[in-house]
Formats: sequence, structure tokens, C-alpha cells
Amino acid sequence: MRIILDTDKCDGLGMCEAAAPDVFEVGTDGIVVILDDTPSENQREDVVEAIESCPVLALRLT
Ligand code: SF4
Repeated sequence: MRIILDTDKCDGLGMCEAAAPDVFEVGTDGIVVILDDTPSENQREDVVEAIESCPVLALRLT
């Protein structure tokens, strides 16, 4: 799986970081940084929760 971020949509609210802090980190510029855009399968549950928690739909999986 690969995480795709739409930086134009992200407004740095940090829900994704709360759900999967090993994968997402809100940067000082208020836009999330994806620490690992190809996380392992055992992280899938947290990553899916993070993506579903994004209120502006800035994240998706391929
Ligand atoms: S939850 Fe969405 S808007 Fe908030 S930091 Fe993550 S990607 Fe950006």
C-alpha cells in the first residue's frame, strides 16, 4: 500500500498523526509530513483509521 497526500487540502489538524504517529507528523508549516508512505501491512489498521479520520479527505491509499 502507498499513502497519497493532497497537500492543497491538508490543514494540519493532526487527526492522522493521532491515529498513526509512526506514519504521520504535522510539520511546523501546518501540513502533515508522511514519515513512511509505504507502511507495512501490520500498520494497515492504524493507517486506514488515520485516513478515515481526516476531515478534509486529504489522504488516500493506493
Ligand atoms: S488529518 Fe488530514 S488535514 Fe489533518 S493533518 Fe492529517 S492529512 Fe492533514
